[in-house]
Amino acid sequence: MRQEITVFWFRRDLRIKDNHGLYHAFKSPYPVLPLFIYDCEILDDIEDRHDARVNFIYNTVEELYHQFAAAGGSLRVEMGSPLRIFKKLFAEFNIRAVYLNRDYEPQARLRDAVIEDLAKEKGASFQAFKDQVIFDEREILSDSGRPYLVYTPFKRKWLAKYNLSQPRFYASEHQLQHLLNGVRYRLPQLSELGFKPTTIATPDRVIPVEIIKNYERDRDFPSRGGTTRLGIHLRFGTVSIRKAVRAATVHSASWLNELIWREFYCMILANFPHVTHSAFNKKYDGIPWRDDPESFDRWCQGMTGYPLVDAGMRELNITGFMHNRLRMITAGFLTKHLLIDWRWGESYFADKLLDYELASNNGGWQWAAGTGTDAQPYYRVFNPDRQQLKFDKNLEYVKKWVPEWGSETYPDPIIDHKAARERAIRTFKKAVG
Ligand SMILES: Cc1cc2nc3c(=O)[nH]c(=O)nc-3n(C[C@H](O)[C@H](O)[C@H](O)COP(=O)(O)OP(=O)(O)OC[C@H]3O[C@@H](n4cnc5c(N)ncnc54)[C@H](O)[C@@H]3O)c2cc1C
Repeated sequence: MRQEITVFWFRRDLRIKDNHGLYHAFKSPYPVLPLFIYDCEILDDIEDRHDARVNFIYNTVEELYHQFAAAGGSLRVEMGSPLRIFKKLFAEFNIRAVYLNRDYEPQARLRDAVIEDLAKEKGASFQAFKDQVIFDEREILSDSGRPYLVYTPFKRKWLAKYNLSQPRFYASEHQLQHLLNGVRYRLPQLSELGFKPTTIATPDRVIPVEIIKNYERDRDFPSRGGTTRLGIHLRFGTVSIRKAVRAATVHSASWLNELIWREFYCMILANFPHVTHSAFNKKYDGIPWRDDPESFDRWCQGMTGYPLVDAGMRELNITGFMHNRLRMITAGFLTKHLLIDWRWGESYFADKLLDYELASNNGGWQWAAGTGTDAQPYYRVFNPDRQQLKFDKNLEYVKKWVPEWGSETYPDPIIDHKAARERAIRTFKKAVG
């Protein structure tokens, strides 16, 4: 007789503490098999075999594996297509229920729908929970019941709702006695996934209270290290969003504001999935972007001759991180000064950022390009030199990342700011009227 079990499928919620779906899985009447799948379709698309995010996931899964083992259970770690793996598990066990936390990305939704169909076909229940956000795409709507297209009223509604009913925490970590026991699965090696160790360090998994307290003062100055670097942890769920928001409500309204931007973009992606391939605002689809791989390459390498832009790109290339102000400046430079399609930049950031997250990256790029929700209007073109005087007056950030700045080897500006600005405004105006 095949054993009756509940499966809990980890994805972007890689923690045992305060995990909503895991908590409910433990409340089901069957022992819980925790599962993680390295999805080959995703891994095969990654060119860099030293990818720091794969390393991060690998280390986190390894940690989970040992935590479950210490509690008498075993994390089942599989490699392959989720459908194939689930079919195998259904043959091995009498799976009564599949539990998971919802993912809002279009591809992930298709993947989950396939598993839901399979579960139903096999007579198992399929239970999805909200864990990645405080409020999902159906919860913060305008009075007429529609998704907000502008941030400020969204934020107002979000705060009002949060203040009325703050989400509870889920003590999943105290329910480990409900794990399936008597099994010990193997943990695959990183090399079996086709990857190698990275030299890029990932930020600690702690909510840095001192940084949050000083966030309002320091957040805009890239040389100060005044932001939390929690992006990767919120992306993979190694830090609970409920805990982060709780810390924000205690220590910093401006940090809370950023977490609400994250929810705004998640809501936009979930309600308007067309943003993944075209402009949010369709009238911007006709902009005649310049097909200029050479300038794009100089931008990627941090060789535009604009020191702040170059410093940002080099920080990204070396560390996998870029400060938010620099993300705005470099993205604005690519799309306005160089008039290169925002999707080129979006995809470059997606390859490089440790905290890469489809909804926020797409939202950030469309904001900078002026094609998105609540976007930077097209006639606002950042002046990189002025930004540098404002946010890196003493050139600390520039000198750190562009040591040859001011010497003969540093390139001349790739384009004159004034001419680029005029060209951008002229082109946008013509395209959108
Ligand atoms: C062109 C562009 C691309 C971006 N790509 C991404 C991305 O791939 N992944 C990503 O998480 N953020 C992205 N952002 C948003 C923001 O730049 C980063 O979240 C932030 O710089 C990460 O640093 P931190 O973790 O120290 O954040 P903090 O400043 O400490 O903020 C805390 C958290 O709030 C969220 N957050 C902060 N600012 C924003 C914002 N403007 N929009 C949405 N969420 C925000 C993030 O989860 C962040 O980790 C992008 C912004 C732009 C302009």
